[in-house]
Amino acid sequence: MRESILTRIVQAAKAAGRAPGDVALVAVSKKQPAGRVDAALAAGQRIFGENRVQEAAERWESRRSAHPDLELRLIGPLQSKKTKRAVELFDVIESLDREKLARALVAAAVETGRLPRLFVQVNTGEEPQKAGVAPGRAEAFLDLVRDSCGLAVEGLMCIPPADEEPAPHFALLADLAERCGVEKLSMGMSADFETAIRYGATSVRVGSALFGAREA
Ligand SMILES: *Cc1c(COP(=O)(O)O)cnc(C)c1O
Repeated sequence: MRESILTRIVQAAKAAGRAPGDVALVAVSKKQPAGRVDAALAAGQRIFGENRVQEAAERWESRRSAHPDLELRLIGPLQSKKTKRAVELFDVIESLDREKLARALVAAAVETGRLPRLFVQVNTGEEPQKAGVAPGRAEAFLDLVRDSCGLAVEGLMCIPPADEEPAPHFALLADLAERCGVEKLSMGMSADFETAIRYGATSVRVGSALFGAREA
């Protein structure tokens, strides 16, 4: 299944006039059986996304030593008290969305000597139950993270509302990224990654279409 997803990514990139290598596949391995994850590793997949620190630690701490070129991305909300653990485990944190967490990341970086690459999550649909900064606050938040906390931000991430057309949300995120001066866009999941690529996604987070349905 990985081959067919990669083919679709390349085709979507070409259709959008983009270089095929511009779009990375993040394999979302949360709640997937170990066998499927190991098969993806054996097939050459190296970038994985997880949405919980504890589950990710259990799965990846052992596999990490066998695959030093692994890249682990946290794509779910991060509680400040779990920041140190997250900084030790993840190469990329895509869910930075508040000052308290930015400050906790700085403290954890000082303590551990490690600092993951960072994405700011934007709540493009302004859904109350969802993490992320409101679109209208994104620029000010980026300024704060950079100038006051001294952290570099690599890109923006969004999860559009489940019941809406995703394209306007992808367009909004791309527009914000340009205004904020960040290059990377993490957007698009199993159902809409080709649309996200059309709007400039530089990484797509694909779970079920890649691995099959998740465990309950
Ligand atoms: C679970 C999850 C995904 C993958 O969803 P699929 O629809 O299975 O591809 C992508 N992004 C985030 C933030 C997720 O939590």
